[in-house]
Amino acid sequence: MKVRTRIAPSPTGDPHVGTAYMALFNWVFARQHKGEFILRIEDTDQARSTRESEQAIFSALEWLGLDWDEGPDVDGPMGPYRQSERKELYLQHIQTLLDKGHAFHCFCSKKRLDDLRAEQQAAKQTTRYDGHCVNLSREEVQTRVAAGEAHVVRMRVPETGTCTFQDRLRGEITIPYSQVDMQVLLKADGMPTYHLAVVVDDHQMKISHILRGEEWLNSVPKHQLLYSYFGWPMPELIHLPLLRNTDQSKLSKRKNPTSVTYYRDQGYLPEALCNYLGLMGWSMPNEEELFSLQEMIDAFDVDRISTSGPIFDQDKLSWMNGQYLRALDVEDYAAKVSAWMLNKERLTALIPLVQERAERLSDLVPLADYLLGTRKPLTPVDFEHKALERAQVVKILHHTLAMFDLKRDWQRDDLYTSCNDLAEQCDLKLRDFLFPLFIAISGREVSLPFFDSLVFLGADLSRGRLRDALEVLSLSGKERKRLDKEVEQLRFFS
Ligand code: GLU
Repeated sequence: MKVRTRIAPSPTGDPHVGTAYMALFNWVFARQHKGEFILRIEDTDQARSTRESEQAIFSALEWLGLDWDEGPDVDGPMGPYRQSERKELYLQHIQTLLDKGHAFHCFCSKKRLDDLRAEQQAAKQTTRYDGHCVNLSREEVQTRVAAGEAHVVRMRVPETGTCTFQDRLRGEITIPYSQVDMQVLLKADGMPTYHLAVVVDDHQMKISHILRGEEWLNSVPKHQLLYSYFGWPMPELIHLPLLRNTDQSKLSKRKNPTSVTYYRDQGYLPEALCNYLGLMGWSMPNEEELFSLQEMIDAFDVDRISTSGPIFDQDKLSWMNGQYLRALDVEDYAAKVSAWMLNKERLTALIPLVQERAERLSDLVPLADYLLGTRKPLTPVDFEHKALERAQVVKILHHTLAMFDLKRDWQRDDLYTSCNDLAEQCDLKLRDFLFPLFIAISGREVSLPFFDSLVFLGADLSRGRLRDALEVLSLSGKERKRLDKEVEQLRFFS
């Protein structure tokens, strides 16, 4: 059997290190077996998917050196590789399930489902669909569909019994069907859900091994049922442990920068990041920590992946990056620095910010230090201001970060308008509002133009600095919760 692996990221934000981690293990496994590695874009969530985000996924994987054999940009024999372009195929499969009685139309309103959920929650039961529409007659369904009544299609799930499946790393797993929901397969907008699309695509694309995050383990019973309804064999399952923050919680951008572009822009080397991700749940047989992609391919043993949650530790990653930098010869090092930042393109973007303020060429360095390198470390004293209390400073930083997190585009004028709007909603003069942001971004009260600096740094680094500033000001969990609630009430976020 030909080994074919895939990753199926959703293009709904920044390219995540978790995606890079999955890509690495799928890629290494495929390359080791002289197989194929496929990139499929799961863009069925039409409201949140963007082409920019898809492009950012391509660039991040290219930067890491993880090439794919088939994908939306290279095509291949089993395409298209974007789920939004495969709608017809899903509709055909939904029809098959309906014809065989494995799926049914559901006309339940949102209100009914919300009430049901609330009732089940109050009774401390598993929240799941109660089968209200499962036995509607064919005639009734036809009439209601013909009348244009909104509906979804759900899968049938056995009422009793258990589902047993194999995970290569965990062995046999059994889940009772009473815990499995009658999953929606086709949404009211005619788009499939993940669960239908992933099964149809993995089968049709001849995926032999599914390596993905362990958060999908609980979905396997639904998938296994679908495979059996269609009469297809199921690929082998290998659920990898999730990356964790140093406090063991699931890796989140609250606590760690999670975007691959952040690490690229900070000057990490792709080789070092790949090497570090290779240590997440796996190690070389000889415990050697530094290894190349080729060495990983040569020594990789999927059965030696450990299922306990690996910690994604920035300090360790930085140490490792340092090892890679030290191993470069001077010319290589210079070439890497130039590819990173000190190149004509980046300098051309920087000069207009500096030119008006410089008297000597050498002024570039002190003026732009926080744009080229890390900004100076901050303390709470840096945020003291005559017109702003600590609580206001924290609120400004928190709300701006929440707003930045929603941004898909990172354009100067839009950032300016949004900050202005936020300042107004916080009842603050823009000048005062911007003070803590200047400090967080540049470490100084007076810096190069603020909005241009944001654009030059990019979304990831800018957000990272605000996050760091909130940490410097010791934002407590309680305060954060209150601010999270508050921010939801603002015009911008509703
Ligand atoms: N879109 C899913 C994710 O990014 C894919 C899960 C899978 O690999 O099946 O987590």
